[in-house]
Amino acid sequence: MASKRDYYEVLGVDKNVTPEDLKKAYRKLALKYHPDRNPGDKEAEEKFKEAAEAYDVLSNPDKKARYDQFGHAGLDGAGGFGGQGMSMDDIFSSFGSIFGDLFGGGGGFSFGGFGDGRSSGGRRTVQRGSNLRIKVKLTLEEIDLGVEKKIRVSKYMPCKTCGGSGARNNSFETCSHCHGTGVVTEMRRSLFGQMQTQSACPYCGGQGKIIKDKCPDCHGDGIVKNEDIITINIPAGVADGMQLSMRGQGNAAPHGGVPGDLIIQVEELPHDQFERQDNNLFYNAFITFAEAAMGASIEIPTLHGRVRVKIDQGTPSGKVIRLKGKGLPDINGYGRGDLLVSINVWIPKSLTKEEKALLESLKDHPNFQPNPTKQERGFFDKMKDLFN
Ligand SMILES: [Zn+2]
Ligand SMILES: [Zn+2]
Repeated sequence: MASKRDYYEVLGVDKNVTPEDLKKAYRKLALKYHPDRNPGDKEAEEKFKEAAEAYDVLSNPDKKARYDQFGHAGLDGAGGFGGQGMSMDDIFSSFGSIFGDLFGGGGGFSFGGFGDGRSSGGRRTVQRGSNLRIKVKLTLEEIDLGVEKKIRVSKYMPCKTCGGSGARNNSFETCSHCHGTGVVTEMRRSLFGQMQTQSACPYCGGQGKIIKDKCPDCHGDGIVKNEDIITINIPAGVADGMQLSMRGQGNAAPHGGVPGDLIIQVEELPHDQFERQDNNLFYNAFITFAEAAMGASIEIPTLHGRVRVKIDQGTPSGKVIRLKGKGLPDINGYGRGDLLVSINVWIPKSLTKEEKALLESLKDHPNFQPNPTKQERGFFDKMKDLFN
């Protein structure tokens, strides 16, 4: 166990410090090393814990007396820390009231174990609306260019009659249980003796006020279900299963809270000519035996109109021609994928007498005898060629 620093040294105070100055010293350190201000900083977290522990002991007359007489040893095992230190949960749950007291309202901090973790800058609880999920079906052409979609959704919106408050004519009265603060304080026994903890008032839901006369349209909720038309800008290059989220476009929260998000799930419609893999598109082209043998220029469709592609003399079936940059745009703007054209030589499924006779006259010619190269013989090499 690393040796502990002296508690007075930690807080930078002397033995005769007044409770007021002790609080001030702790407040300064707690603000400086608070995890909200130092996300992911282990050293700051340790300093924050160290200060909390020191303050816990020095602010308690019993513990302070023991500590003054015996040092850290005086606290071990006797309701002390036993060398364990405090976890962040300990600090936040046991010190909720101290923090609230130390920082006052409006500090802009949020503390764990306090209401639902969201602070409106004061102590009252802010409710959050739920997220709304919708699916958007897109064609490859829409994905290629990006598209603006207007979607009709059914969602909770703030009630117009009461302005979202839930009260008829703004008729509120102060909650008598929490006296308008929105929080209730409980005394609780803990490792460190009596502790105050605070939680959202169950009578007013942390609002601090109670509706006297409920709004007739929303029955006091402040929200009503309604149809809304939302304009969504889908960026180019999205893919099936991707989720886009629009902040604050989900369901409104009861009593004027923070609205949820709209989560848009992309569904890609199958295309009748192309298949997609990542940002690449695949297309099967069929050519005649004569085109394959003699070479040709053929037309290939793309998402931006047709293009001409040269077929070399002696092109085998299964050859893949790569059209650079004719695929889909990358969603992060890193260029475009390719269009991969797989060449298929069409073999007639039936022949007329005349066609048969013509082929008979060719079939024994030397160039018509199969004579594959080593590469053409290799089964897996050819497969690799197809998929590279
Ligand atoms: Zn209403
Ligand atoms: Zn209350």
